[in-house]
Amino acid sequence: MKYISTRGGINPISFTEAVMMGLAADGGLLLPDSIPSVDSATLDVWKDLSYPDLALKIMGLFIDDLSNEKLESIINNSYKNFDVPDVTPIVKVGKRFILELFHGPTLAFKDIALQVLGNLFSLLLKESGEKMNILGATSGDTGSAAIYGVKGKDNINIFILHPKGRVSKVQALQMTTVPEKNVFNLALKGNFDDCQAIVKAIFNQLDFKAQYRLGSINSINWARVLAQIVYYVYATLKVKRQTGDKAVNFSVPTGNFGDIFAGYIAKQIIRPNIEKLVLATNENNILTRFVLQGRYAKSKVIPTISPSMDIQVASNFERYLYYLYNQESERVKRSFMFLDKKDVIIINQEEQAKARRDFVSASIDQATTIKTIRDTYEETGYIIDPHTAVGVAAAERLKADLQNGPTVCLATAHPAKFPDALNNAIGKEPERPKSLEGIEDRPSRYEVLPAEVDAVKNYIVKHAL
Ligand SMILES: *Cc1c(COP(=O)(O)O)cnc(C)c1O
Repeated sequence: MKYISTRGGINPISFTEAVMMGLAADGGLLLPDSIPSVDSATLDVWKDLSYPDLALKIMGLFIDDLSNEKLESIINNSYKNFDVPDVTPIVKVGKRFILELFHGPTLAFKDIALQVLGNLFSLLLKESGEKMNILGATSGDTGSAAIYGVKGKDNINIFILHPKGRVSKVQALQMTTVPEKNVFNLALKGNFDDCQAIVKAIFNQLDFKAQYRLGSINSINWARVLAQIVYYVYATLKVKRQTGDKAVNFSVPTGNFGDIFAGYIAKQIIRPNIEKLVLATNENNILTRFVLQGRYAKSKVIPTISPSMDIQVASNFERYLYYLYNQESERVKRSFMFLDKKDVIIINQEEQAKARRDFVSASIDQATTIKTIRDTYEETGYIIDPHTAVGVAAAERLKADLQNGPTVCLATAHPAKFPDALNNAIGKEPERPKSLEGIEDRPSRYEVLPAEVDAVKNYIVKHAL
């Protein structure tokens, strides 16, 4: 299997080349040149596999330049730190299924992919003898999951920028209490947009990027999408077995379109086992407006109680558009040039109808999010985090569209990560998992810098491998 760019400007490359490239060299995103499908007889065999064994099968479909043994060891190393053997357990909460994706070291679903990416980087660097300096910005969950993916690994340093005082206390501590010497936390005197703009500016200085071999961990990396496809298939097989239904729906709290794009690929691979994908957004609803009105139009970011979804430009959206446009890369290119100039992409009626065959969508405001956490707790005793609540509320609102099978709601973070929102909703903080116990008492380490490109570059120059 080869990888191509959504904008058509690169020669096909292998999986490991795609992992190291991150963003395609022509500014597009990398995708496999075809999507494999798995028939029902094979699925029937796969339904009894453990999570790591299923991951090996599914990821193996997309990888042909890494031996099965190597892939297996990457997968096993990635999931042995999860606090449950089945990695992503499914629980029945009232009439709904909840897919718990928060059993990794930093208690958010990003661990599922970033553990794999960290181990992949580590192996590929060891084999090539190269070194890498990872640079990324975070508004909360990505930073700690990326740090836990590579902490203590040889040949990798990681520099994570976060806006000083603007990530939740727990999120900040998860990043800054990591003692490993290859981890550098930079608290910038600015907001998240400043951090992201600085990272982008530095990646655009191609000489600097090459000299310091800068690597990226954000969700444009294909390996992240690939690792996330696995739990959609896993949950589909488990839930179908439990209910006897022909197909299932998924409700996905969405920001960057990464997680739900993995669901979209899973839907192709195991057609017709996944019926609808619920694209659930908070008040930052550019993607909901896209599904409902056929217009992808940028607006300002609104801070909410589900901060990991406070995003206006969804970096993985380009991948979906490539398929919506029947793989016409010229058209993708034109659309993104237009977006740069006019802040909008508009699709035609036929494409709108096509999008609605796969997706339904709702935007959930903060009052409804809080009410959903409270109602779920009062009715079932189960505590959900604000991101998960957005997905649960959207599934409830759209239930008329979800009649052809049970709906699985993705629980993307552990509620203990968001004590303030939980206090507000149910008058108490959720019990803390072990990894957070006493986190306030651990030594914390970070560097405060002005929100300036040169300050960050100077810091990297001094501490890079
Ligand atoms: C990152 C994140 C999301 C959004 O995922 P995308 O892949 O960006 O759509 C949702 N919930 C939580 C808890 C997250 O950390």
